[in-house]
Amino acid sequence: MEETGVVIAGTNKEDAVSLLAEASGGGRALLTPSCTAALEMSALLLDIEPGDEVIMPSFTFVSTASAFVLRGGVPVFVDIRPDTLNIDESQIEQAITDRTKAIVVVHYAGVGCEMDAICRIAEKHKLPVIEDNAHGLFGKYRGKALGSFGSLATLSFHHTKNFSTGEGGALIVNDPDLMDRAEIIRDKGTNRSRFLKGMEEKYTWVDLGSSFLMSDLLVPVLEEQLRRADEIQAKRKAIWDRYASGLGEWAEEKGVSLPFVPEECESAWHLHYMQMPDHESRGELLDHLNERGHRATFHYLPLDRSPVGEKVGRSIDGCPVTQSVSSRLLRLPFHNGLEAEEQGRIVEAVKEWRG
Ligand SMILES: *Cc1c(COP(=O)(O)O)cnc(C)c1O
Repeated sequence: MEETGVVIAGTNKEDAVSLLAEASGGGRALLTPSCTAALEMSALLLDIEPGDEVIMPSFTFVSTASAFVLRGGVPVFVDIRPDTLNIDESQIEQAITDRTKAIVVVHYAGVGCEMDAICRIAEKHKLPVIEDNAHGLFGKYRGKALGSFGSLATLSFHHTKNFSTGEGGALIVNDPDLMDRAEIIRDKGTNRSRFLKGMEEKYTWVDLGSSFLMSDLLVPVLEEQLRRADEIQAKRKAIWDRYASGLGEWAEEKGVSLPFVPEECESAWHLHYMQMPDHESRGELLDHLNERGHRATFHYLPLDRSPVGEKVGRSIDGCPVTQSVSSRLLRLPFHNGLEAEEQGRIVEAVKEWRG
């Protein structure tokens, strides 16, 4: 592949960059080595400095916070809603101080956060929103693509995600004022991308940056999957639906709650999970499934209680919902290759436990 194929991507409607931009509501897509890298680029783009505060949920992956902590930022952890497990928008405003620089939201499991309220708060306080959209590519909130609400959004193509290049990611830039600088930061702080477009005679070091470029070798792998996005997402929806219908009655009987998708949201069908009544029953069911060869797992540990989170971060009211959910949540096997027959055995195994 020509080197410029990636850098000046976006010219061909079927290329990975254009397909991602379209799926994310029209922003500019820059391919990166990971979602973590895209979050680190976001921290650089927003000029996060030591002591600057960044609001985010405690119930998320480490990178959501670590990207900002690398710049000296202070993560301010807010609790989640007990229904969608997304950041509790009603608790965001009390977390804002003079030092707040950004609000980061995570669309957990591919179900959108309450973006109307969140964007209203962000506008009122003139704060940028960053969507960590690692779960939510192709998801929607009130008919609008997840990834199109924030100044910036980040995507992951890690092997556990709906679309995978093994490791990979993208930064979606919706704020036009950040576009040129995003390209510079991605390319070691140089204006090389303008040079390749014939807009500079030479290229040189003009800003902070690092090597945040996705390997050219991975681009066709991503492109091929994105062209089949409808098929892949339909498959995942079918898996999600089979869990919902297969386990609905059982869950109700046993006091287990299944995922909730609000009316205003179209899910990206990233995962299916169950909230067990307590920590003990979660442990028992995990053992029961894993003994039968079904790889069920738990999920995020509260970041505000992690060794680094405790040291560098601040928590709003101790995030009790995050703590409780984290101790009770069980993720069921969910991947593009999961066939109906195997899934049927998983559902039976769940129901057989305390059947
Ligand atoms: C997977 C994930 C990441 C990290 O993605 P990488 O591509 O592995 O860096 C960040 N945030 C969330 C919410 C994730 O699920």
